[in-house]
Amino acid sequence: MMRPVDTSFTKILSLTSDEALRRRFMVLDEPIKANMRFGLLLEVLDKVAEEAALNYVNRYHPDARVVTAAIDNIVVRHVTDMSRDVHFKARINHVGRSSLEVGIRVEQPGGPVRHIASCYFTMVARSGMGEGAVSVVLPGLDYEEDIEKERAAKALQRREDYKRQQALLKEPPSREEFEMLTDLHSAQDEPGFSGLLAGRLTADAWERMYPEQENVPKKIFGGYLIRRAYELASICCEQVAPNRPIPAAVNRINFFHPVRMGDKLHYTARVVYTNGSMICVEANIERISRDRTTKAMSNSCLFTFVNVDDELQHQPVPLVYPANYGEDARYLAAHRSCQDLRKHRQLI
Ligand code: GDP
Repeated sequence: MMRPVDTSFTKILSLTSDEALRRRFMVLDEPIKANMRFGLLLEVLDKVAEEAALNYVNRYHPDARVVTAAIDNIVVRHVTDMSRDVHFKARINHVGRSSLEVGIRVEQPGGPVRHIASCYFTMVARSGMGEGAVSVVLPGLDYEEDIEKERAAKALQRREDYKRQQALLKEPPSREEFEMLTDLHSAQDEPGFSGLLAGRLTADAWERMYPEQENVPKKIFGGYLIRRAYELASICCEQVAPNRPIPAAVNRINFFHPVRMGDKLHYTARVVYTNGSMICVEANIERISRDRTTKAMSNSCLFTFVNVDDELQHQPVPLVYPANYGEDARYLAAHRSCQDLRKHRQLI
């Protein structure tokens, strides 16, 4: 039986030695702080998770493939330093029946090592194509060392936490939350109200998927979709950020329906919540099949940005005002999600 340590996989982005690569990952061709394209980083992460998972799955099922089912909260600990390499250290933490959790530690070597983020991907092993695709059963891992046992336990805990959070989302607002929403609504009734209405803070984009983007047969590379969603979210965010919004966290991404070649994709982003220097942007991807008969939500992401000045000092963001039931629900969900993230750790 294999142990988690035997599934280790490392990818290195050689920003120091590969000039073309560094340029590809830059936001601006200027020496600004926080100059790493976060969307591309997410794309690399998804690819690394896929490779780490596939190495394991293909030992037992040579023809199987893996798809991303979900990405757990990612909190950015430090901004990336473009003058150092980036290491992605991946390892399988836990194997379930046909799903597995891949953990990835993103760091930059040097003294001291810079911890960028720790990420957890849930991947599912599948075999067969299209409608005939089925999940395959995977042999488990042997968790010998304490750290392996802990990580396996934490993987299960993350799954439980997510279920609990989803259940909580259906809970009505607490008294405090209700008052928060009431205040936001009464402000809008005041004469001369000039606040930012959440409903106006949106952006959208359309795209058709071509064979070039194909990853596993007939499916589209998940990392690419998240990158596009993130990039639209960051553009949308600038409508409310008085300074520069930089990514602080991804509050979980779910993959509901696979995207296929020939699909048209509709990306929508909206600012749903702000608090202090934080801005939450929801980005959804809807797929419309080539024969135009199927329309389904493919992805739903919530990104948290912080508004900073050139020195990365946090700067305040105006309030946004939800005006209807749907906007209230999104405002509340983002509010709860951010409280949850902050309970665990300080956002950058
Ligand atoms: P942890 O998950 O709470 O232990 O947080 P870490 O930031 O230490 O690690 C995040 C994830 O990255 C872990 O769950 C592992 O799956 C993976 N990982 C951590 N350290 C290493 C390492 O040295 N090598 C490899 N290949 N993967 C690692």
